[in-house]
Amino acid sequence: MNLSRRDLLKASGLGAAALALGGTAASAAENPAAATELMPKPAGKRVVIIGGGWGGLTAARYIKKEAPEAEVVVLEKRDVFASCPISNEWLAGEVNMDFLTRDYFTAAKEFGYKMIQTTVTDIDRSSRTVKTTTGTIGYDYLLLSPGIAYDYSKWFGNDTQAAERCRQECPPALIHGSEHVALKKMLEDFEGGNFIVSIPDGAYRCPPAPYERVAMMAHYMKKNGIKGKIILLDPKAKPMPKGPGFLAAYKELYPDIVDYRPNSLVKTVDLDKKEVVVAVTTDDRTDEVRIPYAAANLMPVNKASEIIAMAGVSQGKAGWGMMSAPTFQTKADERVFVIGDAVGGYPYPKSGSIANGQGHIVAAHIAAMIQGRPVAKEVTLPQNICYSMVNGEEAISIGVTFSLMDDKDLNGNDIKVIKPKMTENNTRSTALGKTTHEWYNGMMRDIFGS
Ligand SMILES: Cc1cc2nc3c(=O)[nH]c(=O)nc-3n(C[C@H](O)[C@H](O)[C@H](O)COP(=O)(O)OP(=O)(O)OC[C@H]3O[C@@H](n4cnc5c(N)ncnc54)[C@H](O)[C@@H]3O)c2cc1C
Repeated sequence: MNLSRRDLLKASGLGAAALALGGTAASAAENPAAATELMPKPAGKRVVIIGGGWGGLTAARYIKKEAPEAEVVVLEKRDVFASCPISNEWLAGEVNMDFLTRDYFTAAKEFGYKMIQTTVTDIDRSSRTVKTTTGTIGYDYLLLSPGIAYDYSKWFGNDTQAAERCRQECPPALIHGSEHVALKKMLEDFEGGNFIVSIPDGAYRCPPAPYERVAMMAHYMKKNGIKGKIILLDPKAKPMPKGPGFLAAYKELYPDIVDYRPNSLVKTVDLDKKEVVVAVTTDDRTDEVRIPYAAANLMPVNKASEIIAMAGVSQGKAGWGMMSAPTFQTKADERVFVIGDAVGGYPYPKSGSIANGQGHIVAAHIAAMIQGRPVAKEVTLPQNICYSMVNGEEAISIGVTFSLMDDKDLNGNDIKVIKPKMTENNTRSTALGKTTHEWYNGMMRDIFGS
């Protein structure tokens, strides 16, 4: 008798469940989680959101608000939300950890979405199924807001052990967790010498964040009388917000502490000798220099979270998610959306403000699709403002506004493109310092309700 795959599954007693989940008898036997459905099938539509960060949680709240009949499920690997914005102030001891953290349960209960703590391991778009370490879940609409990952290959090639050693010994702290806590301990234990901070090459999470971090680390050292130097290695010719803001703060507030070095690209790190190997470019030449460090906060090239590749909606070397402006629907699949730092091919900076704004847009779009309404053709584009503290009280701000403009494509056809325009307030002030906290509290209220 010739048995089909379906017959074999039936005989094994796994039939319908395993097929519905896109799994196989073998995979279910090897991995019991593959056979477990995380939740029973809902009566109506289900939206699954991967990533309970700034973008994902905003969308969860507002999809549920606009389409209460839908089931909204957030899959998040972490147990607690911890904010990267304001973490540089926390590093310098200006705010405590309570200010940065929120539990995941209260907002989920208040706003009516489901939160599941689990790690996503695969996505099968043909069966509309997400696989996780604890089970699988089907979706009608899938929203990806998984953030960034690190790419150490430029420094260490395929040597993943060296990469992991570097992450632990010189924590980049662009993703919240042990890296931030380890960096704070390094700063508190620092007794002098060089503290090297390096800025990633290419697009990275929150362009002003490393400059703000250096100012706040210097503030901590000055306040606590710690002798030593922070060497800031920047692959660019100038700080990202191009005005004088950060450089003026370094010069006027921390002249003996901060040593800003433009055109300095990290090539590799000698972890045994504790030296950073840097290509320094001047007008007519590039020299390789080795700089010793007592402590280091080294930020490698950023790339998209592996979730984007799992969904098959990535493009380019860094794997950023490709979607159609301005709805955040992926080009590959109209039921799959990408927002936040994982987005590529769009002139948006990778910021919490933008992830939150995109969360609102995508929520309206998905709710309309669920309810069979026409989706809005024109949307209000999210705008960005980043406040950066330079000491315990004062901040500067960098804003980017975006507008849809008329343009021509390569064939001369009329098209609409999104164009950014930078606005900066480089004059540091205590008023901007206060606004920094007002902005953050407003964001937390919008995402968590409190
Ligand atoms: C030091 C620092 C300062 C910053 N300051 C500011 C600021 O002042 N203003 C501002 O606007 N922005 C700021 N940012 C940037 C801001 O933090 C990010 O832009 C924002 O977090 C992006 O939101 P997101 O939803 O894309 O990603 P995230 O908020 O990182 O959320 C992604 C979530 O996905 C989860 N995830 C990933 N993979 C999986 C998986 N396989 N399974 C399950 N869950 C998964 C992660 O655990 C994470 O919780 C700062 C960043 C840093 C590092």
